[in-house]
Amino acid sequence: MVTRLAPTPSGFLHLGNLFNFLLTWHWAREHGARILLRIDDADSARVRPEYVHDIFRTLEALKMDWDMGPSGPDELDRQWSQRHRLDLYHDCLQELRGSGKLYACACSRKSQANQQRAVCTCFNDALSLDDSSLSWKVHCDRNMHVCFLDFQGLELEYPVEDFVVRRRDGIPSYQVTSLTDDRYFRVTHIVRGNDLLESTARQVYLDSLLPGPWLTTARFLHHPLLTLPDGHKLSKSAGYQSEPLLQRMSAPQILDAFARWRELLLL
Ligand SMILES: [Zn+2]
Repeated sequence: MVTRLAPTPSGFLHLGNLFNFLLTWHWAREHGARILLRIDDADSARVRPEYVHDIFRTLEALKMDWDMGPSGPDELDRQWSQRHRLDLYHDCLQELRGSGKLYACACSRKSQANQQRAVCTCFNDALSLDDSSLSWKVHCDRNMHVCFLDFQGLELEYPVEDFVVRRRDGIPSYQVTSLTDDRYFRVTHIVRGNDLLESTARQVYLDSLLPGPWLTTARFLHHPLLTLPDGHKLSKSAGYQSEPLLQRMSAPQILDAFARWRELLLL
């Protein structure tokens, strides 16, 4: 069994991130699973060295260890950065292209984000996938639901609609890098927040289009997001942090808050 901690170094870690890592870590240590530390730095424009340092410093302060992955920023840079796996991501995109499910999309990210329900009709336009100014989307059948397994082996299902797999700038989307890495490192158990349910469905769908499906048999634990006293939920992208968490909370305080949260979740 292999699980992973997958921080994104585009900001300082927040409590929601750490609760996810602690949940993953405890589960792995209680069940004899190996832990991969995978730092999601493919979107290098948003990565900053202080955020990378923050990951290692915080994991160390909370005494979380891992069995695979970089021991520090230098090793990340030399060996483990997603930059070193770009060929794999592009191979994945080519495999997806071979599945016949991809189409080129001329909609800008902005126009898609601005509308409540963005209407993209590019599927009907059959634009060329070789036009490098266009993004690539995967087509999903109408009312498509994707099935995946939870940690108990029960089948869950979630709806998916067309989504981007390659951005206009040529960068593979998060769905592709995450999926490729999970396949490459043979990750069997994934612990993530409820906010990533849709990502799970998307990744399992992409996986099913590739030779030798892997995620279809992997197991997922989606946990509720940490709710702050004001009712605000800390998701991966929401929790803006202007300083490292350890400057505001001590490691024992974080561990204590985690223990109480875990009790509430009955996990
Ligand atoms: Zn479009």
